[in-house]
Amino acid sequence: MAYRTIIEPFQIRSVDPLRFTTRADREAALRTAGHNLFNLDADDVLIDLLTDSGTGAMSTEQWAALMRGDESYAGARSFRRFESAVGDLTGMEHVIPTHQGRAAERILFGELARPGTVVPNNTHFDTTRANVEVTGAEARDLVCPEGRDLRSEEPFKGNLDAEALERTITQVGSGAVPLVMVTITNNSGGGQPVSMANLRAVRAVCDRHGIPLFLDACRFAENAWFVIQREEGYADAHPRDVAREAFGLADGCTISLKKDGLGNIGGLLAMRDADLAERCRTQLILTEGFPTYGGLAGRDLDALAQGLAEVTDPAYLRYRVRTAEYLADAAEAAGVPTVRPPGGHAVYLDAGALLDHIPAQQLPAQALACALYLEGGVRGVEIGTLMFGRPSPDAVDTPAPHELVRLALPRRVYTQSHVDYVAEVIDAVARRADQLRGYHIVWQPRWLRHFTARLEPVAS
Ligand SMILES: *Cc1c(COP(=O)(O)O)cnc(C)c1O
Repeated sequence: MAYRTIIEPFQIRSVDPLRFTTRADREAALRTAGHNLFNLDADDVLIDLLTDSGTGAMSTEQWAALMRGDESYAGARSFRRFESAVGDLTGMEHVIPTHQGRAAERILFGELARPGTVVPNNTHFDTTRANVEVTGAEARDLVCPEGRDLRSEEPFKGNLDAEALERTITQVGSGAVPLVMVTITNNSGGGQPVSMANLRAVRAVCDRHGIPLFLDACRFAENAWFVIQREEGYADAHPRDVAREAFGLADGCTISLKKDGLGNIGGLLAMRDADLAERCRTQLILTEGFPTYGGLAGRDLDALAQGLAEVTDPAYLRYRVRTAEYLADAAEAAGVPTVRPPGGHAVYLDAGALLDHIPAQQLPAQALACALYLEGGVRGVEIGTLMFGRPSPDAVDTPAPHELVRLALPRRVYTQSHVDYVAEVIDAVARRADQLRGYHIVWQPRWLRHFTARLEPVAS
């Protein structure tokens, strides 16, 4: 029997009360925060959609796994369980735990990238780009053309343009491309999936030039679910088998386990090449820890091993991906355009389209993010000129290509009524969109200004 309502595939056993605030409370909190949602106390937020990273709820079995944690410095049972969970999923022999995804990136690029080399990716996530660039190498984004079109309904807008990859390698020479990376799903490109056909095409290019292929596989399970829904030949496949097939095409991977690891902390680096693994382990010992814990507690490794087993459950993935789609449909119905089709972990509202009376220099996406907070205590994140605009000391900022507000969905935390509430808040804000005003920056640091900048509303 196919029922229309896709229910949360879990029940709630531990309750964390929400704290309600008044509009006056939120106005005061936002003023104190310099109109920057990163500066808010989480207690002043009702529904927190700032990020899906490390914000998920652990299962009963994960909490039980914590109790099994073996805190031995070397050779802990927890590491063996973690190693075997990762090996079962990826088929990779060498498994190196790290405290977060970016630590795995730093170690990998530290070993492979050099000044004068180029690392292609569909779209580098910001920490990935930073860890490539800090070595002196160039991080080059080669996402397919439809991935740059916000409104295109193409099913695999995360695909890496395999022809552009071939051209890049021919142009710079295969010796100058130490590895190719593919991010599944493509976080910085709206959480769009990558098809298996595309992974095979990229693999073929890598093989022709003898270049290793690594996955940035933070959302490997969501990507597998999209493949099952959208790619010919996979409709009856199990998400775990699709994920295994994707990892099977790669020589290695980095993963932030704060996403599809269903953990609150953790990451990993895995690979097939024993020599490279040995070099990476040496780096690991310098900054992260001994190779059998890598900056994590034994109990974390156990909870993550359990998370990696749970995340490919079809009932969970159906609920997860449907939640994003449901919220995106509601936003569109309220007249707020979104990045199409919705990704797996977030809904991106197009503030540039909704607030076309606010110029980019007055940060329309920040205006929308602040309005959602003031209206209903909902916290999203600006992905626009505040985050990516190029500050110019004596003139106006160079605007970002798009003005978006990302509403990221923590895993297994919110229910459908929470999402319905967020939809109502979006609708209320959209109804008076023409009255919203922009913001200007009154203080900003030199780097990554969106985290700490202070702003003021533009005078009407
Ligand atoms: C989160 C993320 C990272 C970095 O992982 P951290 O655990 O935050 O260090 C890298 N790549 C992608 C695609 C991510 O989403």
